[in-house]
Amino acid sequence: MTSAERQAALEAIAAEVKSCTRCRLHAGRIKAVPGEGHPDTEVVFVGEGPGQNEDRAGRPFVGRAGDLLVRMLGTVGWKRDEVFITNVVKCRPPDNRDPEPDEIEACRPYLERQLAVIDPALIVTLGRHSMGRFIPGAKISQIHGTTRPVDPSTGASSAMVFAMYHPAAALRSSDVERQSFEDAAAIPVALLDARRRRAELARAVPAPATPPGDTNAPLTAGSMPAASLESTTTNAAPEAPTLF
Ligand code: SF4
Repeated sequence: MTSAERQAALEAIAAEVKSCTRCRLHAGRIKAVPGEGHPDTEVVFVGEGPGQNEDRAGRPFVGRAGDLLVRMLGTVGWKRDEVFITNVVKCRPPDNRDPEPDEIEACRPYLERQLAVIDPALIVTLGRHSMGRFIPGAKISQIHGTTRPVDPSTGASSAMVFAMYHPAAALRSSDVERQSFEDAAAIPVALLDARRRRAELARAVPAPATPPGDTNAPLTAGSMPAASLESTTTNAAPEAPTLF
């Protein structure tokens, strides 16, 4: 899939989300929040659901929690438009309550399709509801800052998941904030690990043959130049790999 095709596919999903009535959350929304970011990124952040600011703007993580997320990204030299940011439910739960299991289930196909289109190497979950989508039964206090392989049934064919606290929790607790910044500092290493695992998987399952000169052939992890698996230097974080 080309970058333009990925962008078009993500926009088609977003258009469906904006008119979706699959669960009760549609009734109270001002704007649905499909998600946004770079279609070619290797890293997708998945939060829980839109809050008041996001509901008004139709964009994810635009309030104080979003500002904190952007600051955390900045510590490793990344900008928010270099990753993709979305949520497990795309419409605001009333009074910022937790999303209900049936609402997460109703919204699941949209997240799955977004992940299938982007095919990230690394998924960063923000908060326990997002973590529970990828690591059922885990406790965030025990596994934050660690990675696990992702079940391909989530839509991501060969990704790793890295669990973090939700930035809103970090705003409420200086201890969680400190742990969140420590976890954010480990994301680049998690991405490098995810790239290596993906390359190993691609070597184990050879990609289908493509005609000579087919410039539209997909770039698989196994076909990445070896140099791209290494850390590259940025001003903000010497060990942070570039995302493209
Ligand atoms: S939360 Fe998801 S499933 Fe529910 S109405 Fe919004 S887009 Fe549809």
